[in-house]
Amino acid sequence: MTDTAVQLTISGIVQGVGFRPFVYNLAGKYAITGWVANNAGGVEIVAEGDQQGIAGFIEALNTQAPPLAVIDSITVQYCQPCGYGEFQIKTSVTDTAKTALISPDIATCHRCQEELRGPDDRRYRYPFINCTNCGPRFSIITDIPYDRPTTTMRNFVMCPACQAEYDNPTDRRFHAQPNACPVCGPAYRLLDAQGCPVDQEQDVFLQAQEQLAAGKILAIKGIGGYHLAVNAKNQAAVSRLRSRKVREDKPFAVMAGSLAAVREQCIVSAMEEQLLTSAARPIVLLAKQTAYNLADSIAPGNPCVGMLLPYAPIHFLLLKPDDIWVMTSGNVSDEPVAYQDTDAISRLSAIADYFLVHNRDIHCRVDDSVVRVVLDKPYFLRRSRGYVPQPIKLAHKLPPVLAVGGELKNTFCLTRGKQAFLSAHIGDLENMITYQSYCEAAQHLQKLLTVTPEMVACDLHPEYLSTKYAQTLELPVIGVQHHHAHIAAVMAEHHLVGPVLGVAFDGTGYGPDGTLWGGEFLVADLREYWRLGHLSYVKLPGGEQAIRQPWRIAVCLLKELYGDNFVNQQTPLARKLPAGWELVLAAAEKGINTPLSSGAGRLFDAVAAILGLRQTIHYEGQAAIELELVAQGIAGQALPYDVREVDGQWLLDSQSIIAALCQALRQGETVQQLAADFHTTLAAATCDMIKRMSKATGITTIVMSGGVFQNVTLLTKIIRMIEQCGLTIYLHRQTPPNDGGLALGQAAIAGERSR
Ligand code: ZN
Ligand code: ZN
Ligand code: FE
Repeated sequence: MTDTAVQLTISGIVQGVGFRPFVYNLAGKYAITGWVANNAGGVEIVAEGDQQGIAGFIEALNTQAPPLAVIDSITVQYCQPCGYGEFQIKTSVTDTAKTALISPDIATCHRCQEELRGPDDRRYRYPFINCTNCGPRFSIITDIPYDRPTTTMRNFVMCPACQAEYDNPTDRRFHAQPNACPVCGPAYRLLDAQGCPVDQEQDVFLQAQEQLAAGKILAIKGIGGYHLAVNAKNQAAVSRLRSRKVREDKPFAVMAGSLAAVREQCIVSAMEEQLLTSAARPIVLLAKQTAYNLADSIAPGNPCVGMLLPYAPIHFLLLKPDDIWVMTSGNVSDEPVAYQDTDAISRLSAIADYFLVHNRDIHCRVDDSVVRVVLDKPYFLRRSRGYVPQPIKLAHKLPPVLAVGGELKNTFCLTRGKQAFLSAHIGDLENMITYQSYCEAAQHLQKLLTVTPEMVACDLHPEYLSTKYAQTLELPVIGVQHHHAHIAAVMAEHHLVGPVLGVAFDGTGYGPDGTLWGGEFLVADLREYWRLGHLSYVKLPGGEQAIRQPWRIAVCLLKELYGDNFVNQQTPLARKLPAGWELVLAAAEKGINTPLSSGAGRLFDAVAAILGLRQTIHYEGQAAIELELVAQGIAGQALPYDVREVDGQWLLDSQSIIAALCQALRQGETVQQLAADFHTTLAAATCDMIKRMSKATGITTIVMSGGVFQNVTLLTKIIRMIEQCGLTIYLHRQTPPNDGGLALGQAAIAGERSR
């Protein structure tokens, strides 16, 4: 007997994930009449039935939702039954609340993979196969509500067969907005380096596979942009890609055709497997196996390599289960990844021998995400495709803030109520192309989320392009200190109120005293911070140049320690001093263009230079990364160091660590051992600082952030040492410790200050 009626409002990721067909089927099962519809806030249901049926229906909504659905809340309101005769799926109701969540791009599901491989299926070998459980989302959406006309599929008119699936509530493709088939949907073409089509009679995928097998470089248009692909076992091809891409040393990511192929090259833990095979399909940083046999120049000298599994139908088509291909982002050195066709062909024609392109536009560029496992939990190095635009849940509501992020590895952040939406990876905001894509992305995300920011948060650095952008917006601007933002990002993730003891180690960030900070010990809450301690300052003769040439920092440190006699010190650097060192020292002594930096990254640089590992870097953090590599697998010993209190601030004396290293070098210690000892010494000194400050303040909650904590050797050493003292440590778990997580902290602070 129909005696109960309810109106249900469901919020979360419930659109474009097969939610309405699921509701329709449930209604049948529980003898419910009424209707379901998408609205701008999520899904709305009116359900009538007997009391038991309604109860079962609501229960099942909660417990049996489709795999990609994420239910945030279900509100239930009892109302008068109207006596519906059946259950219907209504077409979208648009209203003004517009708070529905957009799904990230999702890897091809198992059923679609089977159809792709099934010779009898009408989508056999069709590289745009998708359903409500999988496929592109964020990258193709141009506006909300999410519907076919607001995606880049709008120009493809569905054939009768596709339309029938789309209209059938019980079909897996019911209202799957990117639904398509070979008859009506987009298609791939193979072009040569000049952009001219090659033999269209033959199967383009077979041709592409042949060219790749022959050592050619293939540019492949995928979900969020272009990849450059070569056979990962072909040494010559990989080297050619490296030289053409002007990317001397930075590791390439590798895509394997199957998990078994990953295991042949790398050690895969249960958590790593879970990440590799998740719907987000990030690049996972894995330790190489002894049997590792990929080209040396993929990740030169590195015990780890970034691997990922196929996620778009084109990857499943191209890679056989035992194939391993380099799949690096389709860009020229530091520019953003190409995603528009004409642009891609003009920019990549000097790199790629062939282009595999398609005619579905990518509206929003999304790079592959990069994650590694630290202490058995995910630790992001880049959060982008597969995760964006899923929000980070905040502890409480904030006013709408746009946080513009930093400069390197930029992302920005928008808040809406209790949610913080971090943008896709933008890249280094150092050139006009990247800046342009940044401005567009900021506009786009505001439109998709229907957020009109009331204030803008930015770094204190006046020269960051992001800061300059903030100033153009005619909104109240809230400046946030760089390292405070780093710490606040972790606090926001973990809903910490503070005060916490924050350790922020990175390269450089703007200090309000005119120096460059980056080895900071802060007491912080979400409004204020106090600089309780820091690494002692080192000189950066030549400013930016000293960051590219770590030997400049190193010679200054040696000179300070040993005077003119430093040239006779038994250090690899002193034995082979780079040309121009006298001029650098002279300039540093006079203080000409020689800023001071407390950056932990700069200390790593100096040590790498003194040990003779690297004098000039080709990408951010290279010297520090190589220092960690050399230390790999060696148990370090803590050398003597000096920690002291000066004018109410704790100082971790970098010079004391350098002096200890030089002393050990004189005694004949190896560079490998000293690289390990340096990590242990810095970890011990950091813990020493933390313990003293914890004792002085009574604060036992420790937060660690900053790009230097991408160094897992240092990170885990500190954690092991601190945990023995009964202190609680929080790390980034949803956002990266590098500047890719900065915007979340800026937003949290700006929002809190205005609350
Ligand atoms: Zn599917
Ligand atoms: Zn079709
Ligand atoms: Fe930073």
